[in-house]
Amino acid sequence: MSENVEEKPREEKEKGKTEKRKKEEKGIFSLYKIENNQVVRLRPTCERCGPGYFMADHGDRYTCGRCGFTRYKQIPEDTK
Ligand SMILES: [Zn+2]
Repeated sequence: MSENVEEKPREEKEKGKTEKRKKEEKGIFSLYKIENNQVVRLRPTCERCGPGYFMADHGDRYTCGRCGFTRYKQIPEDTK
């Protein structure tokens, strides 16, 4: 006589948790804009690394991801 006790842990997977990620297409297309058949650069380029190295927009300043150069935005007083 033996008690046959089997405990099978049931793992209930929580369903319904679906993380929705916003797809933000970041690429070369977000850096350029075409205006009047002219390519306009939306980001400044790094002064150290030269043209071709864009700087990241950090709100009030731009930083270069390559050399770490930081340049603060020059806000014209007219837009106040
Ligand atoms: Zn740089």
